[in-house]
Amino acid sequence: MPLYEENDLLLYNSLSRKKEKFEPLNGPHVGMYVCGPTVYSDVHLGNCRTFISFDLVYRYLTHLGYKVRYVRNITDAGHLVDDADEGEDKIGKKARLEALEPMEIVQRYTLGFHDVMARFNAVPPSIEPTATGHIVEQIDTVKKILDAGLAYEVNGSVYFDVPKYNETHDYGKLSGRKIEELMSGTRDLEGQSEKRSPLDFAIWKKADPTHIMRWNSPWGVGFPGWHLECSVMSTKYLGEQFDIHGGGMDLKFPHHECEIAQNAASTGKEGVRYWLHGNMLTLNGARMSKSTGNTLLPYELFTGDTDKLEKGFAPTVVRFFMMQAHYRSQLDFSNDALLAAEKGYVRLMDAVRKLKSLQPGGTSDFKVSEWKDKCYEAMNDDFNSPILIAHIFDAVRFINGADATACGISSEDLETLTQSINAFVFDVLGLEDAAADEGGAKLDEVMKMLIDMRARARADKDWALSDKIRDQLAEIGIQLKDGPEGTTYTLQ
Ligand SMILES: [Zn+2]
Repeated sequence: MPLYEENDLLLYNSLSRKKEKFEPLNGPHVGMYVCGPTVYSDVHLGNCRTFISFDLVYRYLTHLGYKVRYVRNITDAGHLVDDADEGEDKIGKKARLEALEPMEIVQRYTLGFHDVMARFNAVPPSIEPTATGHIVEQIDTVKKILDAGLAYEVNGSVYFDVPKYNETHDYGKLSGRKIEELMSGTRDLEGQSEKRSPLDFAIWKKADPTHIMRWNSPWGVGFPGWHLECSVMSTKYLGEQFDIHGGGMDLKFPHHECEIAQNAASTGKEGVRYWLHGNMLTLNGARMSKSTGNTLLPYELFTGDTDKLEKGFAPTVVRFFMMQAHYRSQLDFSNDALLAAEKGYVRLMDAVRKLKSLQPGGTSDFKVSEWKDKCYEAMNDDFNSPILIAHIFDAVRFINGADATACGISSEDLETLTQSINAFVFDVLGLEDAAADEGGAKLDEVMKMLIDMRARARADKDWALSDKIRDQLAEIGIQLKDGPEGTTYTLQ
């Protein structure tokens, strides 16, 4: 029986503001869309947290046996500096400042983003579509919204008509905002804007002559509005209705609100069934911001090359630290908190390694099957990773205190414990044994040195030394193999 049949997974749906039982539309297939980065600069640590949170969601769904199609986009056009449909395209601006092609900017920061996500051991999405790769589909959707009478064209731009949409739909239902309040909070745009209402948003924008990212359309040369790409790419790959849409909390309004409106206007359907939002990251108690200098880049975190930290932290330790908070809770980064997480992580990995050497037998109070149930209960409760970690540490205490020759549980329980620890620590939480990786890398270096020394000894016809190196390595279980590509080694 697949695990999803014996686990009732509850998700907190931002739309209903309550936990709901997860019932996929076409189970065991699950469609999940997550708003990806705008690739105009190094990925922000706060964004990393969002993507790592949804990596946990993806990993747990997969662990339960669901077949997840995970789509996460790359925004490479249309995201303007100013959210109110004004200002330069973020990527175009960077390209202008650095005298590069926009696609050079996109390529550089997409690769950087992938590298950071790989270091955090995040599983790549099944599809990673780009806005510029879906201009045709976006133009099609603009046409559909115009045909539905919920958008209007002015001077080469097309705007979504929010007040008109709100006559038949509830604009603001995701973020809990009322259109009247939104209206009163905006400035009177009389004469300053083409928009009929300040709440309207561009779905297609005319490109002025300085705008470098531009495409032909039925309305002239322009570019798609930022909100449009996510509606278009999510429904293209997951269907007009799909299961999960994720993103950072800051995207709830206006981005996701606009997505809902665009989906309803172009397809007549409610696109997303479960909206999930990850919370923010702060640094030393304050919001991260480039302008105040209270900011930290992922590589600064890994190397410790920053005045915010005493030292660098392995990506997997940072990941473990993030997993200690629920994805819907705010999380504060600080040197002390990371040091504490590192200690916990080391204890956990020591226990994972010790577990391999435990022998069954004897008695103890540790009840493996109850413990395992509690782990699943935690994850079934809206992916509650901090509670899962608390349970894992109950097992860590048991393992570290156990007598290795008779650990206190039966062989069947020991097998269940080993399988569950490996599943939760490595598959679900996505942690890695950094010491083992580091050890492996160092062994490679040492072996390169020895293989070199042996090659030199052979070149000097010093057969005694070359044989000694080979034989002594063989004694400790390392086999050298001479082949046409040089000498390699294998561990026995
Ligand atoms: Zn989006």
